Amino acid sequence: MNDRIAFDRVDWVNSIFLFFISAIAVIGAPIYLWNFGLDWLMGSLFVFYVLATGLSITLGYHRLFSHLSFKAKWPVRLATLVFGACAFENSALSWVSDHRRHHKHTDDDDDPYDISKGFWWAHMGWILFKVNPVPPLDNVADLRKDKLVMWQYRWDKLLAVGVGLLLPTAIGFISNGWVGALAGLLVVGALRVFLVQQSTFFINSLCHTVGDQPYSTKCSARDSTVMAFFTFGEGYHNFHHEFQHDYRNGVKTWCFDPTKWSIWLLQKVGLASSLRRVPPSRVLLAEMAEARRKADVKLAGLESGETVCERARESIKEILEQLSENYHEFDQAISEKVEVSKKVIAEWRRETRELVARLGNVRPEPV
Ligand SMILES: [Zn+2]
Ligand SMILES: [Zn+2]
Repeated sequence: MNDRIAFDRVDWVNSIFLFFISAIAVIGAPIYLWNFGLDWLMGSLFVFYVLATGLSITLGYHRLFSHLSFKAKWPVRLATLVFGACAFENSALSWVSDHRRHHKHTDDDDDPYDISKGFWWAHMGWILFKVNPVPPLDNVADLRKDKLVMWQYRWDKLLAVGVGLLLPTAIGFISNGWVGALAGLLVVGALRVFLVQQSTFFINSLCHTVGDQPYSTKCSARDSTVMAFFTFGEGYHNFHHEFQHDYRNGVKTWCFDPTKWSIWLLQKVGLASSLRRVPPSRVLLAEMAEARRKADVKLAGLESGETVCERARESIKEILEQLSENYHEFDQAISEKVEVSKKVIAEWRRETRELVARLGNVRPEPV
């Protein structure tokens, strides 16, 4: 934690709220479920709220409002703003402002959830302390023109409590009296808020700690399929930081990215348009550049060592030369606008991966 943050700057409202939500989710909700179980209505409502609030953050707050990676009709904007508020992660305007600063200043002091200040700081710590001075909302001028966003900015807390907690409590009460009301408050309310919040927090912490960096090592962001399962597809964070305006985080067809699928479905029914995609050739070029950089770093590391294994050095040099040659050839083909088919891209990618695997197998033991 840096010296701008001190104990006397604890944000007590956020801290007490997160403490109670966590305590109810970890202790209160399991005790309730053990004693009363969950009927089909409240079970369905729980699943609906998890999906609605989770996707409102990833599809709405993140990919739509922060990165403008597609255009959405007003029903989508309204729904993601209402259910996004129910995640208790602040208004869309404030969330987007923080997130845009995260992308602009990743891993440095102006990054609100800077992973270089430690895992817990990036995960939750940054929410528990007030930053002084409070960063201005000076990077969301585009969203200020959106009447729905400004309406949500004004009523964010009321929507969060009303739709996020009181509505499921009321539905539970109507269906099953006080036992149902408790299911609405403890399970559909608190437990669901806890799960969706932790899913978002993991993107800022684990997705900057665990996984691969196939597209860039300029920042700490990483790709992890495991994390994608817990984050509605946001686990492919290395790709996302390199190509932040792409509506996909999991760019490959096989990637688990329910947010990407939902945006695609919205387009099919006419509620979304102008989906932004990075051309496959540019994605591959980034992979090739990163592979070449890894070989460069490995070679430099070997040469700075006291004892040098000549055979290992020669192997790395050979791989580096091949990677550089491929990179320049492919780069030239793209700049000359040569038509590159999917099959050709797949072949280049396979060769790049094979070279990276060979690079990983070179053992620079001293002779
Ligand atoms: Zn990030
Ligand atoms: Zn982002």
